[in-house]
Amino acid sequence: MSPLPDHRRAVAYCSTCQKLCAFTCPVSGATGHEAHTPTSKVDAVHQHLTGARSLDEHAAAAIYACAGCGRCTAHCRHESPVGAVLFEARVEAVEEGEAPRSIDRLRAQFALAGNPHGADLAACARAVSRETEGRAFFPGCTALAREPSMARAAIDAAAGFGVRLALAAACRRCCGYPLWAAGLRPEFIEHARAFAREVDGLGELVVSDPGCAVAMTRAYREVGVELRPKVVLLVDLLADRLEYAFGRAPLPWNVVWHDACQLGRVLGRYEGPRRLLRAAVGDFAEAPEHREDGGCSGGGGLLPLTMPEASREIARRQAIALDAPGRRVVTGCPSACRSFRRAGVDALDLFTVLARWVAARDEDDGTG
Ligand code: SF4
Ligand code: SF4
Repeated sequence: MSPLPDHRRAVAYCSTCQKLCAFTCPVSGATGHEAHTPTSKVDAVHQHLTGARSLDEHAAAAIYACAGCGRCTAHCRHESPVGAVLFEARVEAVEEGEAPRSIDRLRAQFALAGNPHGADLAACARAVSRETEGRAFFPGCTALAREPSMARAAIDAAAGFGVRLALAAACRRCCGYPLWAAGLRPEFIEHARAFAREVDGLGELVVSDPGCAVAMTRAYREVGVELRPKVVLLVDLLADRLEYAFGRAPLPWNVVWHDACQLGRVLGRYEGPRRLLRAAVGDFAEAPEHREDGGCSGGGGLLPLTMPEASREIARRQAIALDAPGRRVVTGCPSACRSFRRAGVDALDLFTVLARWVAARDEDDGTG
C-alpha cells in the first residue's frame, strides 16, 4: 500500500490524536463501537502501514464502517481526510481478500448489469423521458432505477426555469461511484474510462446527483481519467436562473433543509439550494446541525450495502436531530432522500419540490 502524501499525514495525525472528532462520526454513534470512531478506523490503517497488524477481516470491517460523510474532517483542526484514507485502504482490503462479502456481490452486479441496482438503465431512461432536444442530462442510476419520479422532476423543474434537458446516452451507465467507494479499483478505472469515452463528444453534462458529480470531478481525476465535458450541477444552473421565479407565490409548505454530505461538505454547495428552496416554499427552516456541520443520512460510502442496520439507525438518528415535527425534510441527494424514507421520514428531494412549485405556477398561469 502506497498512500497519497496527504493521506500519510492524516494517518500520522490521527494515530496520535486525542480523538477530538469522535463525537462527529455517525457510524460510531449508531453502532456504539469504539472500533468505529474515526481515530480507531484510521489506526487500523496505521497499524497495517507500520506492519504492526495485518489487514485482517476485523481491520477491513472497520475500514468499511465509514459513510464518507466528511464530518470528522470538518471538525478536525488538521482537516484530516479520514474518509479518503479509508476509501483508499479499501482497495487493499479487496486485494487481500478481506473486504466484506457484500462487496463481492456488488462486483458481480456490476459485471452483469453495469450498475449497482442490476437495472436495465437504458429502459429506465426511456420510461423517464424520450426527449432528444436539450442540454445533456445525467440524473444518475439511483434516480433512474430506484426513484424515476426524481429524475422526471429534475427535468420538469429545469423546464420551469427555462432550461430544456434531454437524457444523455451515457445514462445507460452508472458513473461508477459505488466501485470507487467499494475499493474495486481496477473495475472502477475500466468503468470510468468507458464512461469518459461515451461522453467524449459532449461539451457539458448536467448532473443532478452530487455523488455522481463527485465521482466525475474528483474520483476520475484521482485515477487519471479525464472527462472532456464540463460537469455542471443542476442546482447551480437553476440557482443562477432564479429570476425566472420572481413574482411567483411559494408553495404553502413548511420544510427543513438537510445539507447532504456530498453536496455540502464535499462540493461546497450551501447557498444555491437555500436560495431555491426559500423561493419555492413559504416556510424554510435550518436544521440544528447544518452547513459544514450537517448530519449524515447514512446513505453514503456503501453503508446501506455493507452495514444496513447501522445505515438505517443513522438515518433514524438524523431524522430526530433534524428536529422537524410537522415539517417536510428536503435534501439535495437521492440516496439521502431514500435513506430518510427508509427510516420513516417524510422526505423529498429538492428538484421534486421545485417541480411542484413550477407546476403550481403553470396552473396559476392557466387560471389566472
Ligand atoms: S480526524 Fe483530526 S480530530 Fe479526528 S482523529 Fe484524525 S487528527 Fe484527530
Ligand atoms: S467520514 Fe464520516 S463516517 Fe467516515 S469516519 Fe469520518 S465522520 Fe465517520
